[in-house]
Amino acid sequence: MKYALMSFLSSVARLVDEENHCVLCGNPTGSGMPVCVRCIENKLLTMARSCTFDRLCEHRCSRCGRQLISTKGTCIQCREPQSFVALDRAFPLFPYTPAFQELLTLWKIRGYRSLSLLFAQMLHHALENCLSRSFVLIPVPPRPGKIRSKGWDQIQELVSLVRPSSRYRVVHCLKRLSHLEQKHLSRTERGGNLEGQILCTYIPSSDCCAVLVDDVMTTGTTLEYCARSLKTAGYSEVYALSLFYD
Ligand SMILES: [Zn+2]
Ligand SMILES: [Zn+2]
Repeated sequence: MKYALMSFLSSVARLVDEENHCVLCGNPTGSGMPVCVRCIENKLLTMARSCTFDRLCEHRCSRCGRQLISTKGTCIQCREPQSFVALDRAFPLFPYTPAFQELLTLWKIRGYRSLSLLFAQMLHHALENCLSRSFVLIPVPPRPGKIRSKGWDQIQELVSLVRPSSRYRVVHCLKRLSHLEQKHLSRTERGGNLEGQILCTYIPSSDCCAVLVDDVMTTGTTLEYCARSLKTAGYSEVYALSLFYD
């Protein structure tokens, strides 16, 4: 009982601390947000604006967008045949660091939903810069029953908050049939779980370009199977933008 009380108090203290200190730089935020204004302007906005699908980015894998130690090329995973067949290129906005992992945990696991508006703003800046041509923005669909069991879906929330733009419009055209969660499956099992399980319910006009949006990219299998469905429906190019990767 004493242990439970101590554990509860330390989690409250931690939450209060997170509300007052920036998870990225440690300075006081002066607001209820876990990121300070300076980090939003100097770090997050710069990262969002660096997203590009038209040209290759230094220190990023040319297919999945993960950070590389070398200047150019593809990561080990993307050198495997059949890793990405339909998906032309992916780009995760934020780096894989403990601070950004903490930000992801606060938002996704601990339900810090005030971050949704901030991430939607970053998504908007990324989308304004990522392609020179117009495109449709397509959210990765949640598995059936997710919203009922969890209470919300991060991607649906992001897309509902993203600012309208003349460069893109949101199209909810993907439907997921599989009930199984992907996170406990291997890469091969993930593919098997999604084979034929993502439907595109909209036929695009010719030469239409799509940008999928996701919160976290892990192996990229879900994005690849979404892209396969979109290419089969007639999309000529399919890119993917995620906030995080792990
Ligand atoms: Zn900061
Ligand atoms: Zn890669």
